[in-house]
Amino acid sequence: MQLYGGIEAGGTKFVCAIGDNTGKILERARIDTTVPEDTMPKVIDFFQQIHAKTPLAAIGISSFGPVDLDIKSPTYGYITTAPKSGWDQFDFVGTLKAALNLPIGFDTDVNGAAIGEARWGNGKGVDSLVYWTVGTGIGAGGILYGKMMHGLIHPEMGHTFIPHDTVHDPFAGICPFHGDCLEGLASGPALMERWGVKSAVDLPDGHEAWDLEAKYLGYAMANCVMTISPQKIIIGGGVMQKKGLLQMVREKTLEFLNNYIKHDSILEDIDNYIVAPGLGHNSGVCGAFALAEQALHVPS
Ligand code: ADP
Ligand code: ZN
Repeated sequence: MQLYGGIEAGGTKFVCAIGDNTGKILERARIDTTVPEDTMPKVIDFFQQIHAKTPLAAIGISSFGPVDLDIKSPTYGYITTAPKSGWDQFDFVGTLKAALNLPIGFDTDVNGAAIGEARWGNGKGVDSLVYWTVGTGIGAGGILYGKMMHGLIHPEMGHTFIPHDTVHDPFAGICPFHGDCLEGLASGPALMERWGVKSAVDLPDGHEAWDLEAKYLGYAMANCVMTISPQKIIIGGGVMQKKGLLQMVREKTLEFLNNYIKHDSILEDIDNYIVAPGLGHNSGVCGAFALAEQALHVPS
């Protein structure tokens, strides 16, 4: 049985965990994301302590970003233009490798969650899937024909543009780069600002916020079906914990696709086509184990 280290690195916290090749989490720790000089020694210490007793085969990282995933680039394994101060141009892979000397797998948080779901969650058995998170930000990653979705950099589907009827919804959006991109209109903080609440949790059932949210996410899912044609879409993130929202998004997606994509998975079985994460909150950290497992085959 191989043991893997996994890191789900977010703007608020790092979840560090130890897992095995069944995706089971054996140990975990939460470390606050402050600055690299403070956070990284704690992360390294967690793994060093365990590795000294029970050797780890590799470590995987699902990271916030944008990140450099180009193995040929001099800044491979870096967080490049992080919105979180102090993490800009941080050599994530190099720092861990120098301290632990293990194979390191590295990818975006959403690509990590996608591979976690593909390996052990609701993406088992398909070779093209997209994983979305709708939380503090909106992002998507995935696997296409069995390979991680990389390209020039990696997809940033949370920042795509969707129809915004400014008469019905005059809110300008909060994305610092694009204003009313999908994330600018439909992330948790966008809900908070548009509706003047402290948390999206405070928006009650039946509030018009949820119809509008489902509409924007429905546009995004319809676009996703038509551009990528995944065999499955998984939507996680805090905002999706709103009861009933996933079903509303499915309905809007069907409405916007308008019977154009003639496939039974969509027309007859949307409940199994657009789904919640099978691993719940653990898609990212289990995905990090899967990235570690991959790194054993393609060492970085
Ligand atoms: P992050 O994106 O930072 O990793 P989450 O995915 O947990 O964090 O998303 C946090 C966002 O989800 C917050 O904006 C919060 O308001 C929203 N949220 C959390 N729980 C719920 C809920 N039950 N209903 C609606 N929104 C929620
Ligand atoms: Zn944007």
